[in-house]
Amino acid sequence: MTGYTAPVKEMNFVLEHIAGLNQVCAQPGFEECSPELVASILEEAARFAGGILAPLNTVGDLIGSRIVNDQVRETSGFAEAYQQFTDGGWTALACNPEFGGMGLPECVGIAAMEMWSAANVSFGLCPLLGQGAIEALQSHASDDLRNLYLGKMISGQWTGTMNLTEAQAGSDLAAIKTRATRDGDCYRIQGSKIFITWGDHQMTENIIHLVLARIKGAPDGVRGISLFIVPKYLVAADGSVAGHNDVYALSVEHKIGIHGSPTCVMNFGGSNGEGSDNEKDKGAIGYLVGDENMGLSYMFTMMNHARLNVGVQGVALSDRAYQQAVGYARVRIQGNPPGASTSSAIIEHPDVRRMLMLMRSLTEGSRALCYLTAANFDLGRHADDKVTRQAGSLRGELLTPIAKAWSTEASQEVTSLGVQVHGGMGYIEETGAAQFMRDARITTIYEGTTGIQANDFIGRKVLRDRGTELNRLIAEVRETQVSLSSLANLKSVEVSLGKSVDALEEVTHWLLDHHSDNPVLAATVAFNFLMGAGTCIAGWLLAKSALIAEEKRDQDPAFYGAKITTCQFYAAHLLPRTHAYLEAMKTGEDKDLMLLDDQF
Ligand SMILES: Cc1cc2nc3c(=O)[nH]c(=O)nc-3n(C[C@H](O)[C@H](O)[C@H](O)COP(=O)(O)OP(=O)(O)OC[C@H]3O[C@@H](n4cnc5c(N)ncnc54)[C@H](O)[C@@H]3O)c2cc1C
Repeated sequence: MTGYTAPVKEMNFVLEHIAGLNQVCAQPGFEECSPELVASILEEAARFAGGILAPLNTVGDLIGSRIVNDQVRETSGFAEAYQQFTDGGWTALACNPEFGGMGLPECVGIAAMEMWSAANVSFGLCPLLGQGAIEALQSHASDDLRNLYLGKMISGQWTGTMNLTEAQAGSDLAAIKTRATRDGDCYRIQGSKIFITWGDHQMTENIIHLVLARIKGAPDGVRGISLFIVPKYLVAADGSVAGHNDVYALSVEHKIGIHGSPTCVMNFGGSNGEGSDNEKDKGAIGYLVGDENMGLSYMFTMMNHARLNVGVQGVALSDRAYQQAVGYARVRIQGNPPGASTSSAIIEHPDVRRMLMLMRSLTEGSRALCYLTAANFDLGRHADDKVTRQAGSLRGELLTPIAKAWSTEASQEVTSLGVQVHGGMGYIEETGAAQFMRDARITTIYEGTTGIQANDFIGRKVLRDRGTELNRLIAEVRETQVSLSSLANLKSVEVSLGKSVDALEEVTHWLLDHHSDNPVLAATVAFNFLMGAGTCIAGWLLAKSALIAEEKRDQDPAFYGAKITTCQFYAAHLLPRTHAYLEAMKTGEDKDLMLLDDQF
């Protein structure tokens, strides 16, 4: 496996020109932040990712984590790396300064997360989940709970987890059964959670679980779910760690990928999930976050953060696979390329170049999409005027399901192409290309599958406001189209982007006109709608990049020239996919296209 070199220049370019870092840094709370500071932080992060985390990626895959004497043991070397990670202050990057955070924008945190995930996605999952837990507590917990827990979580002294999933409650959290019973000023939690990422490990003195549970007598469905803090070790009023709470990892799953990340079955209260009347088995001690029955909406704070970060995992694994594939294509000698009389490196073969270009352009498109989404949330939370705040939140909300689903779907294609570029050696584990494909496979599943993101996009983000925010975005794509028209070099991009956005606009109108006559239409067409929109929006962002690159080309012809060519390639090879997705969508009303249950 080749090492990892973070594409810092590209990341700075996207932050500055696509995410609008200058505008973000101008908002209250970000006064200390500047593009120069961000650039130096990213340089430092790149050194840590490449030097400390990347070398542990293979050992994490080969050895993984396991249970020894009822305790989950992480891969050896991870604990030392985690200590260095917290010593470097990396857990605190985009956190609230009131509790020891550095207060940097989320879009900067996202760029760092790309590096951790590209270097070692299993390791990166630990701070990813911790960050989501921190956000949920910052936004919804009482002052007492925030004062007790946030400082140590932000410093990384304690890690955080997210406990939603149960055997019968995956995509459908309304089916959650874990029970909470009031016991003085705390609650007793009883139940089992499955698939809990970094649910147990020995890297820190405590683990803070955020757990969804149902208080006795609460309404059925999502309206009866509450959110609790359940620490692995109980925490005294002075913040010191006391006895073991009744929460244990029962097992660690065997998985396709991310072997270095322990995925645990967690038992709260030693019960079977139905609760127990035995006094000795009262349950794990938990503390209510915010109000009763508001848990799911609080958890959405965490899930939105995690969804965007999982989108970034897609970007990261795509980039890593691309770097690995380019490295291999430069050294593998095989066959004569057209017109050559001797055999040469496979990078000379047009079809290998096509694959590398696909990999690169999908990666750059998804990176632009994720960073822009994060920057919109920064504006949504920090902008000094209400209009900018509102606009940032609406755009961030619209883009989140696309950033998550489109970027991770793209990573399936990119990491698979990475294997293809290696030929047979890609199918052999030693080269490392296969690990990226295996590691990427989970990204379209956890934090809401692609199907769930597509439902969110079409239902909550488009139909609910009758397409208002999407149409605003479409108008911005049109503005870019106008700018492209003045540059002969980007004419082909203008034409291709124009066709793509025409199709998106037309199908949005069609959807708004037809969905109310047919209750299953939205759910039937949701995937194609999201993928078509994502393809168009990523193409738009690459076109914006190409416009900037045209202006700056003379300053750095290699870098900016590559950005222009990558955009031209995307316009020629990928933007046409928009039509296929959106045309397929229009067949959504045709019931004859689906077999009946017993025909499958
Ligand atoms: C490695 C790993 C780590 C994880 N980490 C965590 C964690 O830290 N915390 C946590 O709480 N959970 C975690 N999960 C759980 C993960 O979020 C769920 O697996 C995921 O939400 C899907 O739920 P499910 O597995 O029950 O699949 P199901 O919900 O059974 O879905 C199966 C299929 O049906 C489709 N489907 C289901 N409902 C709908 C619908 N309404 N519309 C359209 N399609 C639908 C899905 O898209 C999917 O294709 C993890 C899972 C894994 C494998």
